[in-house]
Amino acid sequence: MDLYEHQAKKLFARYGVPTVQGSVVYNSEQAAGAVADMEFPVVVKAQVKVGGRGKAGGVKLAHNLQELNQYTNEILGMDIKSHRVRRLLVDPGVDIAEEYYLSFLLDRSNRGYLAMCSVSGGMDIEQVAKDTPELLAKIPINPVDGLTRECALEIVKKGQLPEEIQDKAASVVQQLYEVMIDADATLVEVNPLVRTTDDEILAIDGKVTLDNNSEFRHLSLFDEFRDDSGADFREIAAKKVGLNYVKLDGNVGIIGNGAGLVMSTLDVVAYAGEKYGDIKPANFLDIGGGASAEVMEAGLRIIMDDPDVEAIFVNVFGGITSCVEVASGIVKALQSLGDSAEKPIVIRIDGNAVEEGRKVIEEANLPYITTAARMDEGARMVARITADRLGLSNSEGE
Ligand code: GDP
Ligand code: MN
Repeated sequence: MDLYEHQAKKLFARYGVPTVQGSVVYNSEQAAGAVADMEFPVVVKAQVKVGGRGKAGGVKLAHNLQELNQYTNEILGMDIKSHRVRRLLVDPGVDIAEEYYLSFLLDRSNRGYLAMCSVSGGMDIEQVAKDTPELLAKIPINPVDGLTRECALEIVKKGQLPEEIQDKAASVVQQLYEVMIDADATLVEVNPLVRTTDDEILAIDGKVTLDNNSEFRHLSLFDEFRDDSGADFREIAAKKVGLNYVKLDGNVGIIGNGAGLVMSTLDVVAYAGEKYGDIKPANFLDIGGGASAEVMEAGLRIIMDDPDVEAIFVNVFGGITSCVEVASGIVKALQSLGDSAEKPIVIRIDGNAVEEGRKVIEEANLPYITTAARMDEGARMVARITADRLGLSNSEGE
């Protein structure tokens, strides 16, 4: 998971890394409020998870309220390498004397970390690596030994940082390494790490990538920094109950167990819906192997609640979990949903103990339910029901 600059700097601060932390704002009123206790100039910075914002015009120094207002309006909504700017960071301005580069990355091929440091920071580091590779030092770090004071000093020396600032810079190197290790990051990059006119070292930009495979041991960190701004709220709700849900733009709700089966179901529904013109799956939802009553209910709730959904196709294969359990799950779920379950449902279950399973559904005698013996038959049924509700007729005029 990549962090926004403001999140990265928040994380840095917890490890004592000297940095600037202004306010995150979403409009010009908030920006004006944010500078109430700051001195001009302030920096207005697009918060997008992509580099080169400065070059794209997404970082501006504002010297007064009028400039602040102008830059805020210019940068909000800007498209930076296909990332739409929706939030800004307003930071206190810094008097910069020099700009350095410092990063740690996971070096898989060497089974260790790699530190990179350069006196020539601020601009495009790829350009530095290409044009003046002698100015970009690369120092491998053995993760077992960790980063000693000597090694931190070696990094800043090889990066050719001025001698009088090396001691301070080495401390920041050690703090950033701690961020890397402690947060299980695969990348920690500061560009620029600046030397201020009064000889302080400050991280004024930050890029951090957390290792998704380590989420289980950093639950609160992931929760804190997770960015749901682009996600559908149903996707968020589904994730909370451990379901795999993706919102699509059609009108047939889909529930299945196993990613492969659900994908095939999307295909057959899209195919059956084609002849009505505009009937397509409204979502991907995989309730997984267990398919218990609880997960079935949680899944049905999410889909029933989607106003785009006209009808639902439940396509479950009983493997280890028998069809009796699956069927009881569906029945229990619908009973507990009660009156809120008022959209037509086509159910196709197959597999282990299918006859007994179908019987469970028939005997429950629930309204709105049709059963199908086969997947393509179920897809045609749900497409027809959806078409009826939308007043569409098929290409054969039925
Ligand atoms: P990036 O282009 O996405 O990497 O964004 P940065 O946060 O690195 O900002 C780009 C450049 O803006 C930096 O290299 C600085 O030269 C400049 N900049 C950022 N913050 C300040 C500041 O507080 N004061 C001044 N004078 N310049 C700044
Ligand atoms: Mn930068």
